[in-house]
Amino acid sequence: EGFNKFDLSQEIVKALNSLGYIKPTEVQEKVIPLALQQQDLVVSSQTGSGKTAGFGIPICEQVSWSENKPQALILTPTRELAAQVKEDITNIGRYKRIKAIALYGKQSFAKQKLELKQKNHVVVGTPGRVLDHIQKGTFPLERLQFLVLDEADEMLNMGFIEQVESILYELPKGRVTMLFSATISKDVKELCKTYMQQPNYIEI
Ligand code: AMP
Repeated sequence: EGFNKFDLSQEIVKALNSLGYIKPTEVQEKVIPLALQQQDLVVSSQTGSGKTAGFGIPICEQVSWSENKPQALILTPTRELAAQVKEDITNIGRYKRIKAIALYGKQSFAKQKLELKQKNHVVVGTPGRVLDHIQKGTFPLERLQFLVLDEADEMLNMGFIEQVESILYELPKGRVTMLFSATISKDVKELCKTYMQQPNYIEI
């Protein structure tokens, strides 16, 4: 029982044990199996629901350690959330030695550029700085398989729609997209319709 039913690798199960995660939360119950099947998902869920591990667990499970270029991109509305998500991914991927990096404004672009050149698996960032790296050619996109839009309603409320759309436009087409939002507003729906492949809607 618990997380065992998802058929996760030993490294991930060990990390969840260290974190004291015994039982999946409701959002994790619904998201993990579908994300492991690489389905596009639209999830309405609040902060505190365990949504970060909901996407973090299947991403850490599916990225390949031996690949050097980013395989997952997680966009967040704020720097604080980006730092938190990076921390959570690092913890979940600890025994698989998953390297997560964070890209946000008010930090050295040059230092981030260097981090992007070194081996990493998961990039977490705010739309403005991520787009900046994409446009300057410092973010290798060709291995990206997973995109997460975290707190999508907040990102749109904060006026990031143009940056988010420019990023989506640049990403490889065959990727898996997961969108998380407290409210599924008209703008969020519009974004899903344009950029996702027959997503599954999950309401918590
Ligand atoms: P989030 O909604 O992702 O911000 O997570 C809220 C809190 O729940 C965080 O402190 C997580 O560490 C914790 N958490 C996430 N999943 C579980 C779980 N399955 N069991 C216990 N705690 C969890």
